[in-house]
Amino acid sequence: MTSEHHPDASGALADRLERVREGVAAAAEAAGRGADEITTIVVTKFHPASLVAELARLGVRDIGENRHQEAREKAAELAGLDLRWHFIGQLQGKKARQVRAYASAIHSIDRESLVDALRSDEASVDAFVQVNLTDDPGRGGVASDALEALVERVLATPGLRLRGLMAVAPLDEPPRPAFARVRAMSERVRALAPDATALSMGMSHDYADAILEGATHLRIGTAITGNRPA
Ligand SMILES: *Cc1c(COP(=O)(O)O)cnc(C)c1O
Repeated sequence: MTSEHHPDASGALADRLERVREGVAAAAEAAGRGADEITTIVVTKFHPASLVAELARLGVRDIGENRHQEAREKAAELAGLDLRWHFIGQLQGKKARQVRAYASAIHSIDRESLVDALRSDEASVDAFVQVNLTDDPGRGGVASDALEALVERVLATPGLRLRGLMAVAPLDEPPRPAFARVRAMSERVRALAPDATALSMGMSHDYADAILEGATHLRIGTAITGNRPA
């Protein structure tokens, strides 16, 4: 069996991870930034825990998931691996406390009722307020005109440590100007919370543009994992 014809899955994963690491380094250099100020979260939704374990062996620490049930099961199975779990999907209030139990960060905080559901006297979880860059409320995220109120709510809530903003680029416009709008919104946030400088934006196809606009946390799935199972 020759490896050309039957590349082993793990080798392919390592190759894709390496290509993304090089792409991140190149984009950071083009932006005049250090690659070490950028965290790549590998999004493993729909993939089995074994793939996450493989990523851990390749040095990945930050894992992104968008469905609570699936995330909880993988986090439990891989509890020995010292991974940081990032919850990036739409979150129901009644599931919020359960997500706190395994997640180090929640990127999809989009409404005040969810903030209230996350209130806790336990150790703080990192909080990203998700902003909606479209006019479609179904896309998730807070509308621009409600941003300050939601940020104030997070700041007033024990158990949440505001890190910054999260956004998904709209499908129907070029990503870079959309990411520039997130950067502008981030200035409004920093007027209220000077430490909340993080920007969670950039996926497989637009992470270079996101880095040019200041992304600190990339959420990259298929470019590293390959296509998601159906
Ligand atoms: C799935 C997902 C990603 C990763 O998308 P890819 O295109 O596979 O890189 C990033 N962010 C969110 C919110 C997602 O749901």
